[in-house]
Amino acid sequence: MQTQNWLLKQASLKPNTPAVITEKQSLTFAQLAKLAAKKAGQIAQMTQKRRVGLLGDNSLTTYVLALALLFSKKTIVWLNFRLSTAELLAQVSDSQLDLCLVTDELWRSEFTEPFIPYSKLEASKAPAKELMETVELDAIASIMYTSGTTGQAKGVLQSFGNHFYSAVASALNLGLSANDQWLCAVPLFHISGFSILMRGLIYGMTVRLVKRFEPRSVETLLVSEPVTIISAVPYMLQELLKQHVTPYNPKFRLVLLGGSSAPKELLLASKKAQINVVQCYGMTETCSQVVALSSEYALAKLGSVGKPLFTTQVKLAPTTNELLLKSPALVSGYLNHPELFAKKLDAGWYHTGDVAHFDHDGFLYIDGRLDEMLVSGGENIFPQEIEQCYRKLPEIAEIIVVGRPDPIWGEVPVAFVRGQKLAQAALRTYGEKYLAHYKIPKEFIWVKDFPKTASGKVKRYLLKGSFLNE
Ligand code: ATP
Ligand code: MG
Repeated sequence: MQTQNWLLKQASLKPNTPAVITEKQSLTFAQLAKLAAKKAGQIAQMTQKRRVGLLGDNSLTTYVLALALLFSKKTIVWLNFRLSTAELLAQVSDSQLDLCLVTDELWRSEFTEPFIPYSKLEASKAPAKELMETVELDAIASIMYTSGTTGQAKGVLQSFGNHFYSAVASALNLGLSANDQWLCAVPLFHISGFSILMRGLIYGMTVRLVKRFEPRSVETLLVSEPVTIISAVPYMLQELLKQHVTPYNPKFRLVLLGGSSAPKELLLASKKAQINVVQCYGMTETCSQVVALSSEYALAKLGSVGKPLFTTQVKLAPTTNELLLKSPALVSGYLNHPELFAKKLDAGWYHTGDVAHFDHDGFLYIDGRLDEMLVSGGENIFPQEIEQCYRKLPEIAEIIVVGRPDPIWGEVPVAFVRGQKLAQAALRTYGEKYLAHYKIPKEFIWVKDFPKTASGKVKRYLLKGSFLNE
């Protein structure tokens, strides 16, 4: 199936509407289309290959380059600048890149070909390239690597159709107003950020792009500019609330909150500050949210991620309660690893790897990841519940609970802790006040730091693996 090129379409429907506004600049859809054509010409001179890497910040140039690639028959391979050079090289090789464009400020001395700084591309005198007239919905628009929280990062093959259905489902849920402006302070190389760019194109909506999340400057934008929606992860909302004093501008509608489970205290504090929060659940493989909770239920259904969006079907696997889903926004595979994706599909149902439950009104709650869950004496234990309880102690800076093999119970919970040392007995007594006894960690192990992915998620499987060497 084909549609007209989304960028050219908006350039003809809304030529003078600002498509993207940064701290310093603003571009209309017509200007954006012209600039994208110029960049497409420069890129075409550098590579014949379909896939091109983007190692970019949230700058206007990254935004324009992404559009240039999307609409000149290229596939964007999004790379995360928080990765080590070795990790980047592994992804460059996995996607067989011969060109990877890098923001000049992110340039590293060890970079050689295929890495090229933006400035070198800009210096090229190549003529502009006409952007393609149509978009094939089945064509791969972008490849985005998963966080690698559970092991190897996988290149997710996201099609134009997946992005389109994701944007439509979001609009059907949140509604769409002619004046909507979406603030993008999450990275463009994550689905949270890239999906905002896509919605901007599909809705003909203005995107406010900020280079990095700084609570103070984002707060200023929310107060003094007509921003209506911001996407955030729990950490960002927490930081925004810490210094929130002035009500946001009267057009402000909501915070779209996702990425991981949100602490109840955070949701309560948002309500108190009269900030509407829409909690949502999704993953790189579903090109953003597939389940969301409208703010009218934010308190009545505290902790729920809501109901499946219009185009999403969900059910739970018998016995494990793993969440299974179907959605037109679900991708069709992983780059170079069709077998890994096929393993997650069963009669068209995608196995998310997350364990969930419904309440009697059909609202969905994510309990945790199936492979992080431990089973002790037949009882299911989700580490997050234990961690949230202990995190309230001021001495504990960070805590991660994993299962340790046990000859009697199968597994027992053990906690890795960063922070001030406390007596084992005192910690157990504290736990007894809030948790069933089988959930109380059998041992607390102090560590200096945790192994983490580039997006800051702890690699639990490495902590768990440490028991195997004992
Ligand atoms: P990998 O697949 O490489 O192990 P990852 O799953 O962490 O990495 P992402 O696609 O960025 O990579 O994250 C999606 C996951 O984040 C979901 O499967 C789920 O476990 C978690 N998640 C997302 N939103 C929520 C939410 N609202 N509540 C709880 N967990 C969430
Ligand atoms: Mg995942």
